Amino acid sequence: MADLVFAAPPIVTIPVTGGGLFPVRRVFCVGRNYPEHVREMGNDERDPPFFFTKPADAVVSGGKDIPYPPGTSDLQHEIELVVAIGRGGRDIALEAAPEHIFGYAAGIDMTRRDLQSLAKKAGRPWDMAKGFDFSAPIGDIAPVAGIAHPPDGAIALDVNGVGKQRGMLSEMIWDVHSVLTYLSRLVALAPGDLIMTGTPAGVGAVERGDLLEGRVEGVGSVRTRIV
Ligand code: MN
Repeated sequence: MADLVFAAPPIVTIPVTGGGLFPVRRVFCVGRNYPEHVREMGNDERDPPFFFTKPADAVVSGGKDIPYPPGTSDLQHEIELVVAIGRGGRDIALEAAPEHIFGYAAGIDMTRRDLQSLAKKAGRPWDMAKGFDFSAPIGDIAPVAGIAHPPDGAIALDVNGVGKQRGMLSEMIWDVHSVLTYLSRLVALAPGDLIMTGTPAGVGAVERGDLLEGRVEGVGSVRTRIV
């Protein structure tokens, strides 16, 4: 076999509560999955789920700071429940979905809202609005053993200690198992894949220096500072 022409990139990992590291493969994200957020963005909540992606190395774990990204003046937070896939598969049946889930985490889908609005208007891809460097701060992954599976509780995000996003996981238009099932009809899921399951209402802009603290009841938390 031929030698690599330069060193392979390091594997992106997220700490697992209780020990170990989860190796990240791909990051899938669901658009528009909480009715109030769908309405605040001016859309119809009856739309079927759709997906976009972030590169694995957009993931930031361990509560590290993230730089304010270039190319935007409207960087926004979206707190989300993250599903961590432990077993792959395609065309996964709804009742089999739980067997494919390794655990859950709290994550933030950082968004260049101005670039997303331009992309929507022009019918262009969202990649540069969603999949930029450091765009996915994610907290430690809680394995399914020992927690509610799927989780069912509050999801929230504070900026500088002030409550901004408040929701309940039960408000999701497409629940965790439906999202996994639907996505597995579009791609073969693999161990290491993450699914960010959409955000509740209350998204808003952040500035340099802001501290973002998110939490998902019964799962864990995520924090990052914009620098
Ligand atoms: Mn999102």
